[in-house]
Amino acid sequence: MKAITVEPMVSGSALLEDIPEPDEREGPVLVEAIAVGVCGTDVEIVEGKYGWAPPRKTRLVLGHESLGRVLDPGPSTALKKGDLVVGIVRRPDPIPCPNCAVGEWDMCRNAQYTERGIKQHNGFMSEHWRIEPEYTMKIDSSLGLLGVLLEPTTVVAKAWEQVIAVGHRAFWEPRTVLVTGAGPIGLLAALLGKQHGLEVHVLDRVDSGPKVELVRSLGATYHSGVAADLGFEPDIIIECTGVGQVIADCFSAVGAGGVVCLTGVGSGGRTGHLPIADVAAKGVLKNNVIVGSVNANKRHWYKASEALARADRSWLGQLVTRCERPADFAKALTRTADDIKVVIQFAEA
Ligand SMILES: [Zn+2]
Repeated sequence: MKAITVEPMVSGSALLEDIPEPDEREGPVLVEAIAVGVCGTDVEIVEGKYGWAPPRKTRLVLGHESLGRVLDPGPSTALKKGDLVVGIVRRPDPIPCPNCAVGEWDMCRNAQYTERGIKQHNGFMSEHWRIEPEYTMKIDSSLGLLGVLLEPTTVVAKAWEQVIAVGHRAFWEPRTVLVTGAGPIGLLAALLGKQHGLEVHVLDRVDSGPKVELVRSLGATYHSGVAADLGFEPDIIIECTGVGQVIADCFSAVGAGGVVCLTGVGSGGRTGHLPIADVAAKGVLKNNVIVGSVNANKRHWYKASEALARADRSWLGQLVTRCERPADFAKALTRTADDIKVVIQFAEA
């Protein structure tokens, strides 16, 4: 079968190649790939900056934002041939740490978890893949190709759960949320904000184009510029850029009692001479919480599937801005200005 593989930590090693059918040890459920979304992590792996091959292998099958159709459910009675499914990405560490032991692999304490398409476990960019039934999420069949948005939605489903958990440390009636960054994660965070009944604001650099329209058609308010110019203090900020200055602005802009949830993973970028004690003093005097959030456990996968099933299909459809063939994977990994979510399509949904 054809698969997109990479030698981790070797830049430019990605290939579309023939590999053997998936190993039955990867799980009894056999799936035909429909599509795999591309994200910044895939780009980093292909650039040789990240990623680990499976044990005793040199190459890794890329891809963690899956969508497929069950070809053979194996002994599972919960799945049947033809079901649309998405594969959960992370597996608990083998020790396991206390969090993995209770199914919270997203909160793994020792970083020995594995991840399909990223860390020591083949991903989903192959014509067929196998998976364990307990790590298979069946999705609403009416989503079709849009099911490929489930994995990024799990990231924001967890982030929202974190924000709400933190908020309930005190009496809390949040009204406004600011989302920084109008990429796929930011737009999906905004979608969930609307589903939570909040007044949603989205901030990004661009001042025209599809992102602006998508925010408006969601019934949210679009802002280009900086958080300091919003004219209000958000009760919740979901930070999806990972950009140092944007993060610093979020700490200043959040309202008293407010929660800033960091979901973006960036690096470097100096923010002048940020007086950290002054930043902290503001946080103390405003009872702020800054919470980091990564990955998702099965509860978040379930919540995300419910959120997607409830969402407007034509709005979701506009998030998928480009579908490329597996042979053109390099084009899929190259971002253009109007891209939101690019997917590599293996078969019709
Ligand atoms: Zn763990």
